Amino acid sequence: MRAHEAGALHAEGYRGPAWLQTPADVNALVPSLWAQSVERGDDGVLSVGGVGVADIAREFGTPAYVVDEADFRSRARSFKQTYDEVFADLCSGADVFYAGKAFLCTEVARWIHQEGLHLDVCTGGELAVAIRAGVPGERIGMHGNNKSVAEIRAALEHGVSRIVIDSFDEIERVSAVAAELGVVAPVLIRVTVGVEAHTHEFIATAHEDQKFGLSLSGGHAFEAARLVLERPGTLRLLGLHTHIGSQIFDTAGFEVSAHRALGLHTRIAKELGHAMPELDLGGGFGIAYTTEHDPLPPRQLALQMAAIVERECRADGVPVPRISIEPGRAIAGPSTFTLYEVGTVKPVDLDGGASRAYVSVDGGMSDNVRTALYDANYSCTLANRASDAEPVLARVVGRHCESGDIVVKDEFLPSDITAGDLIAVPGTGAYCRALSSQYNHTPRPPVLAVRDGVARVIVRRETIDDLLALDV
Ligand SMILES: *Cc1c(COP(=O)(O)O)cnc(C)c1O
Repeated sequence: MRAHEAGALHAEGYRGPAWLQTPADVNALVPSLWAQSVERGDDGVLSVGGVGVADIAREFGTPAYVVDEADFRSRARSFKQTYDEVFADLCSGADVFYAGKAFLCTEVARWIHQEGLHLDVCTGGELAVAIRAGVPGERIGMHGNNKSVAEIRAALEHGVSRIVIDSFDEIERVSAVAAELGVVAPVLIRVTVGVEAHTHEFIATAHEDQKFGLSLSGGHAFEAARLVLERPGTLRLLGLHTHIGSQIFDTAGFEVSAHRALGLHTRIAKELGHAMPELDLGGGFGIAYTTEHDPLPPRQLALQMAAIVERECRADGVPVPRISIEPGRAIAGPSTFTLYEVGTVKPVDLDGGASRAYVSVDGGMSDNVRTALYDANYSCTLANRASDAEPVLARVVGRHCESGDIVVKDEFLPSDITAGDLIAVPGTGAYCRALSSQYNHTPRPPVLAVRDGVARVIVRRETIDDLLALDV
């Protein structure tokens, strides 16, 4: 049995994990968890972009992912403007690559492009979305630890601005495809720097036992640079790439990572005579899913990163390369909530006399697998009305045939919550639709964008016919 964060049950009964406060007002929204336009009106109904959730549910059904378009765009724009400003004197600005794997559809790819960002894709499928959205090649980077020849060819034919090389095999593979197409492929080398960051701490080791990148300490990354530089007719070495993890809340891990990466950057300049023009510091900037998280504003993050890069480059005596970063979750995550309808409410007795309300909704692990997969915490609120009832400890669960099918592990909801109510779960813009499945033959929910009082479908709901269409 797993010990709970809160430890032993409190005398008055279990109150959830230590970070979870009993709310003074169960109807109040915690601003850091919600998209900017989300508010509860005088009628108690939650609205986003001026549209009430009851109207959204009536028109589009539930469950549904609801994106505040202005919020998504403003987070994207703010990353780009902030990094451009902060890095202006060091390397005449910075490139912000939105990590498309967090959430991508044609419309979102357009927003990213219109707001001046670049786009990272890591499969032929994500590339196809980018191309369909009209994102030009020079704004696209391609990732992946096992890109196929067809994917590399598609990327080079579209003229992507960088392919991130992840293995020795890939040096040969990209070089061969470039030769076939008669182009020179711009490449970065993904370096494992031995830093693994999680939430509030990071681990720095010499070696990394994981599939991504080429080891710095083992000399593989340097050797890869040498091999790339041996192929000037087909490969152009732009720089090194690092990515140390996700849900990172401070720059300590970046500091170690940048120190090590710039050490290699300098060594390549001195020993191989190649001054690389770029350096990618990766993504992983944390967001607030619950009150336990307190992310740094992008500006503070940028200032700290710039100070680190400047200090390291000065110490190494090399010019500052053009910096790029790759936020995914920090742009998409907070822009979106998932809207569900409650189907059943069941009190369940816990040890020590406490009890918990199990609230079943019409979605679950098929539309948000992060709780089951990463033991992630989410928050939620009653969305179609306010309530005067006292808050009770609740668990929001899905409709799938697994006891691990949990959406929100611990949250206080009003005790009068009942079938037909709507629940909104914030922070579901990243890695929810992207990781969704059709488990139990469940059609996937739509993605709705709301802006200036209008809600529209940007990814439609799957139908039973969609499910059956693949079944030959
Ligand atoms: C996943 C990933 C990102 C984005 O991570 P977030 O936590 O969404 O910011 C950026 N770069 C690479 C290489 C990744 O694999």
